[in-house]
Amino acid sequence: AEDAAYLVSKIRTIPGFPKEGILFRDFMPVLADARAFGILMGALEAALPVDVDDFDMVAGLEARGFLFGPALAARLGKGFIAVRKAGKLPPETISQSYDLEYGQASMEIETNVVHGGVRVLIVDDLIATGGTANAARSLIEKCGGVVAGFSFVMELTGIDGMKSLGDYPTSSLVCMP
Ligand code: IMP
Repeated sequence: AEDAAYLVSKIRTIPGFPKEGILFRDFMPVLADARAFGILMGALEAALPVDVDDFDMVAGLEARGFLFGPALAARLGKGFIAVRKAGKLPPETISQSYDLEYGQASMEIETNVVHGGVRVLIVDDLIATGGTANAARSLIEKCGGVVAGFSFVMELTGIDGMKSLGDYPTSSLVCMP
């Protein structure tokens, strides 16, 4: 409980960033603090939504999923898949567009990283609407991979992002409005 409180105390909230009306949750201070970072990694591992033997690889979403996804993968003895914003990866890539609050974006993975039947845990720092996480799921599935579950550090409540993920196993460490 003391560790959980310490971890939460390092998540910073910035009203009005990056735009007016947005309450931005910033977990960079967690990574900057050795104790908090250790607690975070231990908690992610302890809260895995599926058994560690039930997946082969960890996929992290650009950009903040890259900050702890590879660390989690290395800790668990898994490979890492970078799910990147469009135009960053060399060919061959497969892409998936998704809706943002205003407009659309697309993300990509390299087609050869996910082989048929590979089981993937998708990780990101935060789930709001779930649009980003669902786009990543589509990418993995388009390649013939199987999404084993989703791990998030933070979950924004009152938006039903988790519900948008359907029946996939999920976990989040911290719920925030
Ligand atoms: P969603 O697609 O609506 O679920 O939004 C989740 C994506 O937006 C994730 O990739 C997050 O990194 C990013 N995001 C949305 N709100 C915040 C925030 O308050 N802090 C950090 N990232 C956020």
